[in-house]
Amino acid sequence: KAKQAGKNRFQFYNSEFCDLMVEKRALVGELRKAIADEELVVFYQPLFDLKSKKLIGAEALVRWFHADRGAIAPSVFIPVAEEYGLIDQLGHWVLKTACRQLVAWQSRYKPELVMSVNVSYQQFGRYDFVESVSGVLQGTRLAPQSLHLEITESTALIDLTHTKAVLRQLQSIGVSIAMDDFGTGYSSLSCVKDLSIDKLKIDRSFITNISTDERDAAIVKTIIALSRNLHMKVLAEGVETPEQLAKLAEFECDEIQGFLFSRPLDAEQFEAQFLQRNMNEEEC
Ligand code: C2E
Ligand code: MG
Ligand code: MG
Ligand code: MG
Repeated sequence: KAKQAGKNRFQFYNSEFCDLMVEKRALVGELRKAIADEELVVFYQPLFDLKSKKLIGAEALVRWFHADRGAIAPSVFIPVAEEYGLIDQLGHWVLKTACRQLVAWQSRYKPELVMSVNVSYQQFGRYDFVESVSGVLQGTRLAPQSLHLEITESTALIDLTHTKAVLRQLQSIGVSIAMDDFGTGYSSLSCVKDLSIDKLKIDRSFITNISTDERDAAIVKTIIALSRNLHMKVLAEGVETPEQLAKLAEFECDEIQGFLFSRPLDAEQFEAQFLQRNMNEEEC
């Protein structure tokens, strides 16, 4: 059992000790140390333009490779970081790391690449969030137009007045906003009605059965039409099969992301596979 690799190992550890609180407290301590010791790594998953098949950029996804427990999934440690006040530091580190990486890739390979970075509701809620983003942009000398920030519907709806103001400020400095996991929240439509969003990222749960389930297909088609009509870009998350891709092409989705093209990779692998290989003609 203990030999189970990756995130499974953590789950076994969990159930064997049967004491979530003790377990969580241990995890918090280790996460604090991991942040300080830079045991965390940013991985990058490529984003492609569906029509041209060209690489647009990457989504930054944080990884934790624990010395004893193996890989711990972000779905496990991000909520812990949020609960214990560690997400600001973690999120800021991811943002800085990803921006710095993009600057290097832009100057070496493709100036038009973009970086999409996830923002936690707690980071987003801070009074100085915009200031910290512009601080990172200045510090890394990244053009604001190259940065996309991903927030979820639930983050956006915590405080609509705050959200409107923050989005306006971010867009005024040139940063784009993507609505992550679109369709899974309780008020997807009020989000797009009230907020100025640059891109919708259709949640993977709608893409999974798109080629076999007519209802999922209809929903995806409708979200794509919605984004067209409201002048937003639209991306499909979690594309795993050629059949799903064919449907998305038929519906004229703008952008795609998923295991069919690549899993998230470390910077070196990303560079080797998507930047060095064909500097002019990436194909997915
Ligand atoms: P997300 O932002 O929706 O990121 C997409 C997730 O889907 C990633 O999981 C990615 O590995 C996974 N994915 C991509 N393509 C496919 C596919 O074709 N099939 C399947 N099954 N999965 C696919 P990951 O990296 O485990 O991250 C999970 C979530 O954790 C993210 O969901 C995001 O909400 C959060 N997260 C990750 N990194 C960060 C970060 O730096 N900051 C914050 N605040 N949250 C993060
Ligand atoms: Mg995301
Ligand atoms: Mg997502
Ligand atoms: Mg998701």
